[in-house]
Amino acid sequence: MTSRKVIRSSGRRAFQMYIGGEWVDSEGGGTFDVVSPASGEVIGTFPKGTREDAKAAVESAVAAQETIARMPIQERCKLGVRVSEEIRKSVKEYAVDCSLEHGKPLRESIAEVEDAIPNLLWQVEDLKRWDAPAQEGYSKPDVLYLSLHEPLGTVAAITPWNFPWVLPSEFVVQAMLAGNSVVFKPASNTPLSAAHLMECIARAGVPPGVVNFVTGPGGEVGTALVEHPMVDAIGFTGETTTGLDIAHRAGLKKLTLELGGLGPLIIMDDAKIAPAVEDIAFGCFTNTGHCCVANERIFVHEAIHDKVVRALVERTKKMRVGFPLDADTDMGPVNNRPTLKKVEDHVADAVKKGARIVAGGKRVPGMPTDLYYYPTVVDGVTPDMKFNTVETFGPTAPILEFSKLDEAIELANAPRYGLSMAIHTANLRVAMEAAKRLKSGQVCINEPVYSWDYMNPWGGFRNSGLGRIAGRWTLDAFSELKTVMINVGRSPWPGDMEKAH
Ligand code: NDP
Repeated sequence: MTSRKVIRSSGRRAFQMYIGGEWVDSEGGGTFDVVSPASGEVIGTFPKGTREDAKAAVESAVAAQETIARMPIQERCKLGVRVSEEIRKSVKEYAVDCSLEHGKPLRESIAEVEDAIPNLLWQVEDLKRWDAPAQEGYSKPDVLYLSLHEPLGTVAAITPWNFPWVLPSEFVVQAMLAGNSVVFKPASNTPLSAAHLMECIARAGVPPGVVNFVTGPGGEVGTALVEHPMVDAIGFTGETTTGLDIAHRAGLKKLTLELGGLGPLIIMDDAKIAPAVEDIAFGCFTNTGHCCVANERIFVHEAIHDKVVRALVERTKKMRVGFPLDADTDMGPVNNRPTLKKVEDHVADAVKKGARIVAGGKRVPGMPTDLYYYPTVVDGVTPDMKFNTVETFGPTAPILEFSKLDEAIELANAPRYGLSMAIHTANLRVAMEAAKRLKSGQVCINEPVYSWDYMNPWGGFRNSGLGRIAGRWTLDAFSELKTVMINVGRSPWPGDMEKAH
């Protein structure tokens, strides 16, 4: 483990909201500070938006709806490309802010900002090829049916703090590409990255009002957007409890909800141990474990349990916890105090019920804030422990032992979360049986739970969400299909002639 050498930050800056093509403060004049979990310094001040600000943003978006809905697809594609070019110009600068506001190592932030570019361009390409069915009538043989993609209208995009670039860049520009106007409300812990994305959108020449940006507390600004009668759809990524609250308040708005996970990895007795251990470390400790697809639970077959735990402890102890901007840092601080408290609570709960901490299990002393926590491995976890029932969202690797695949599948499915699950085995038949029985939006075979690609339909089963995004599925999520029926006139066929005789 290393300690921080020099505090390097980009200083305190004042940011604004973006409504109707203008950079503005809150109508109430309030502000809030963003404090870096890495250095403890205030790194940005943002307008504390109100219900009135949210209303103004929605009104501006509604007024701009026709502008974007009528814009030819070719022009929308050009806007998407220009946003990606604007991002590309300042990747390193944006990544530094991302690391300071989130806490992740700089190389992870650079990868995240860079990832927003192909992610966005993928949808630009999908938009060019966004087809829909045309069909001849069955009960009406003289009719031809055309299906047309129609924008939904105004979309509220509400995003969390754990991937401040990737998650907004899954919704905000994509909803616009599908022809909607947008109000974007980022997480209050990480609004710097969101503000930079908004700057890129504005510089790309997106017409005023088409994308608006409001900051402030989710309970006020978020709720106002969710309840506003002129908002037609909500794209939300965040906790399952918030998703449920949104579902209760939203009425008949179209919902895309990307919620929490409790990602299990099942390691069978015939699995290769070294790659399995690498996948655990990647799935549990990348992004300090703040991932919806984090490897939250590890089910290890009893025959190889001891070997896996030994190798994992060795691998974990090599990890360097440090200041995110230091080149040799493998893991930065936990992003915020409530999440750190939850991590500590889950570890304490497991220990109280008989589990053993075999690596980490405490805060790192001598750091600029007390949010740095060692990557932690807990062995002897049992199904009744919080690790197995509540998303931890921190740098922990809880190990549960099993003897039969049936038992592991039952445990994996039991908490009713299903975002990403994985199995390691040399037997394809066993892997495919598990893939069918695991109730999850994604099942990864000999890959980490933390896996994702641009083009696959992404989303959860059960408590992990509603709807699918990524690739063309994002365009589908932010549009409706409209049927246009055309009477093309009937041409006679031989059967008509026979009936006539
Ligand atoms: P939260 O649900 O706490 O917050 C998400 C966003 O919603 C924030 O912008 C927040 O604002 C806002 N918000 C809070 N309360 C309300 C409300 N009542 N109405 C409307 N908006 C509200 O989630 P976190 O930020 O803590 O994110 C972590 C969660 O996100 C984890 O559970 C993780 O698994 C999940 N996630 C899911 C993904 C997926 O693809 N399925 C991907 C990434 C994360 P404010 O910040 O101001 O409180």
